[in-house]
Amino acid sequence: MSNSATLVKSEYLESVIEKTKQKNAHESEFIQAMEEVLSTLAPVIAKHEEEYKATGLLERLVEPERIVSFRVPWLDDKGQVQVNRGFRVQFNGAIGPYKGGLRFHPTVNQSIMKFLSFEQIFKNALTGLPMGGGKGGSDFDPKGKSDNEIMKFCQSFMTELQKHIGQDIDVPAGDIGVGGREIGYLFGQYRKIRNSYEAGVLTGKGLEYGGSLARTEATGYGLLYFTREMLKAHNIELKGKTAIISGSGNVAIYAAEKAMAYGIKVLAMSDSTGCIYDKNGINLDAIKEIKEVKRGRIKDYLNYVPTAEYTENGANVPPVYRIKADIVLPCATQNDINLETAKVIVTNGAVAVAEGANMPSTTEAINYFLEKGILFAPGKAANAGGVATSGLEMVQNSMRYYWSFEEVDKKLDGIMTNIFKSCQEAAKEYGVEGNYVAGANIAAFRKVAKAMRAQGII
Ligand code: NDP
Repeated sequence: MSNSATLVKSEYLESVIEKTKQKNAHESEFIQAMEEVLSTLAPVIAKHEEEYKATGLLERLVEPERIVSFRVPWLDDKGQVQVNRGFRVQFNGAIGPYKGGLRFHPTVNQSIMKFLSFEQIFKNALTGLPMGGGKGGSDFDPKGKSDNEIMKFCQSFMTELQKHIGQDIDVPAGDIGVGGREIGYLFGQYRKIRNSYEAGVLTGKGLEYGGSLARTEATGYGLLYFTREMLKAHNIELKGKTAIISGSGNVAIYAAEKAMAYGIKVLAMSDSTGCIYDKNGINLDAIKEIKEVKRGRIKDYLNYVPTAEYTENGANVPPVYRIKADIVLPCATQNDINLETAKVIVTNGAVAVAEGANMPSTTEAINYFLEKGILFAPGKAANAGGVATSGLEMVQNSMRYYWSFEEVDKKLDGIMTNIFKSCQEAAKEYGVEGNYVAGANIAAFRKVAKAMRAQGII
């Protein structure tokens, strides 16, 4: 595994990184994502430095095309007014309509929205489908809200958002806190206000009204397809391995399902309050019932499997990462794995870390994994299966036709296999073989940069 890309220097690149940090000093997550991408691009920038400089390409790349921030007022069940803040960041539309999920979580702020939409530019480019980068959401906390409150919030949120989206403009989907139920309410309100059945305006829809088979499974399954290819390239078998998975939401559940189908034993899963460890292998039906049906806490797993162990979160190293396993799949949220946690993972003998979540590892943790020869799959490549299948949902909506589960899954597998190959080849071409972080960033950047160059200074 080579890190020599970092040895190539580009003054232009460094000055853009510096200026972007100063200009966005209060946006730590955005700075982290921007620096992580740009710092791996030196070999490409160095080759075309004059051309990129003359067209301000990097300065334009790090500035969103548009940010919309808006008030979301709604009435709770007690009749009291609640006010949340909504966002949509339309970061880069050079290769297609803006595309990216909506996150409803109390931590949502402009920095998190910008980091997610910046990542999305490159992720979408890697899928090979025509989709630009965007992301949105709200600081609304769906936890503990009634169904009625969720609906009212979604309706108010969409009343404003609908002014800025459309099937050829910007196509949101789900993310943390936004699943099938929320997409249904959002789609209903869009249809009512616009008086138009634009199925392609949102993805992750229910199967009865324009959704795609396999979209629910796509991010988790795709993560395992990418992991399979990465391990195959290093002659490592999946069968018989053990895994730990952080989170127990959409991505985590379907990552676990595909991992088990490949003969991997999943030992632990978590949520924001704690972690369960089941030495016999997690019972996924129990997790699905707790999380998808009852919307409960992971601790409830003990009611299904009393011999499992439960540990509360709170320590600097989340308990799920203390469990020894061959494969680590972070599928919860950003900055879950810091350097200290990375050290525990390496000491425990992991061979691979593949990111299902967006930016779950800090930059220090990623560099440590690479240094120690851990096979590392960055989120923007490894979790691209979700947005790729959203792209396939848009294709089906345009055709007014449906593919079978097997057809969509096969296309997803093909896309993930191609994404791995692109990362592998780009890393090799630029002398950083085995470094899939650099490989993913370089492969995606080349495509976006080419499209931006072709479209002039806009
Ligand atoms: P869900 O809301 O379905 O699940 C999120 C999971 O992460 C839950 O188990 C949640 O626990 C846990 N979690 C959330 N915040 C924290 C926290 N601060 N600390 C510990 N655990 C936390 O979301 P998804 O599964 O859809 O998304 C998970 C990740 O994958 C995100 O980073 C998302 O951006 C990324 N992603 C999602 C895609 C998709 O298609 N859904 C596509 C690509 C990336 P709790 O229930 O307690 O809140």
